[in-house]
Amino acid sequence: MERKKYDYLIVGSGLFGCVFAQQTKLLNRTCLIIDKRPHLGGNIYCKEMDGINVHLYGAHIFHTDKKEIWDYVNQFVTFNNYINSPLAYYKGKIYNLPFNMNTFHALWGVNTPQEAKAKIEEQRGEFANIDPVNLEEQALKLCGRDIYEILIKGYTEKQWGRDAKDLPPFIIRRIPMRFTYNNNYFDDPFQGIPIGGYNKLIDNLLDGIETITETNYFDNKEYFDSICNKVLFTGRIDEFFNYKFGELEYRSLRFEHQHLDMQDYQGNAVVNYNEKEVPYTRIIEHKHFEFGSQPSTIITKEYPDSFSEGKEPYYPINDSRNKTILEKYKKEAEQSQKYIFGGRLGQYAYYDMDDIVYQALQLAKKESEEK
Ligand code: FAD
Ligand code: UDP
Repeated sequence: MERKKYDYLIVGSGLFGCVFAQQTKLLNRTCLIIDKRPHLGGNIYCKEMDGINVHLYGAHIFHTDKKEIWDYVNQFVTFNNYINSPLAYYKGKIYNLPFNMNTFHALWGVNTPQEAKAKIEEQRGEFANIDPVNLEEQALKLCGRDIYEILIKGYTEKQWGRDAKDLPPFIIRRIPMRFTYNNNYFDDPFQGIPIGGYNKLIDNLLDGIETITETNYFDNKEYFDSICNKVLFTGRIDEFFNYKFGELEYRSLRFEHQHLDMQDYQGNAVVNYNEKEVPYTRIIEHKHFEFGSQPSTIITKEYPDSFSEGKEPYYPINDSRNKTILEKYKKEAEQSQKYIFGGRLGQYAYYDMDDIVYQALQLAKKESEEK
């Protein structure tokens, strides 16, 4: 192969691009990362405001059940012992999440796992034995009518901008349900927030890597393709192929950040607002992720939003229409020797950060085995 300036051009400095870049360096290969945003880090980037790391693109809590992924990220940053225990606000009452004995006690006054299980059985009714085909059926099967009506339906329908009957079941299986008084949102054994913030993780991953920001690959694609042997693309796969098989759908978000002259606004990092009538889905109070004691606080209201050009494509919508289109793009992608697709947008998948790290490491391994 003709020798080019870089072995890899990496489009996108999100976690996927950064982990892959770090690995190429270990293999003595050269790479350049470009990003269209004015900063590195993709959606895990944080901006410091009043001494608080503000998660500009949505709150991020690192969690994993894979020891090797935990060990990998711990080479670059130390994590604090933050445990995510969000609350749900509905019509003046606060409930604990995920669905656990504290939630069941607040809903029905039950005190023991036996009482809670009997109540859930009664609530599930005829849905207990169905094979769910949509999110509503899946939720009714898992938790029954009250939890669905109070804690799931309103939140879900405003989050996704569509009826719960028109959403895939897997989305709701992200939330655990357990019969203990344990408010840890995740079942994973490893969890935390990087001490010093996510930017430190990004900076350490990119130590010694060449990067350019405020540069859109598509503005100069021919040039960028000419300086590298391979391109790792972590932007939108449908955009890459110029939408030839149709546009994939995304859900966007709008964030409203507010500085408040008080030490503590809500006593918790995350409070969900589960009524459909409240226009935002959650309020994040960033200082609580790092146990901050600053005199003031920053809160962010997260408003679900439709996606259109110019907005951020935060969530893929993995329904059957989009899956069919995606398959066509994937097939096309597999034909290429030059272009590789990775990350939440490149793969059009609802991946958490640990999935992203895992997949980027796998890709680097596969690449290292190729001549
Ligand atoms: P991204 O971070 O999206 O990076 C892609 C980058 O590519 C961007 O910087 C973009 O600017 C750049 N780019 C795109 N197109 C071009 C182009 N044409 N030219 C140049 N650059 C381009 N995961 C968790 O594990 N825990 C959580 O608590 C959590 N919370 C989340 C909350 C929200 C609101 C969202 C949306 C996601 C959350 N995630 C969470 C998931 C997490 O954000 C992702 O797993 C991870 O950040 C994806 O990394 P990535 O590199 O694939 O993509
Ligand atoms: N969800 C809900 N009620 C809640 C929190 C979440 O119904 O209080 C549903 C909603 O459909 C959401 C999904 O569960 O999209 C996954 O929740 P998660 O907290 O994992 O969402 P993310 O942080 O990825 O936005």
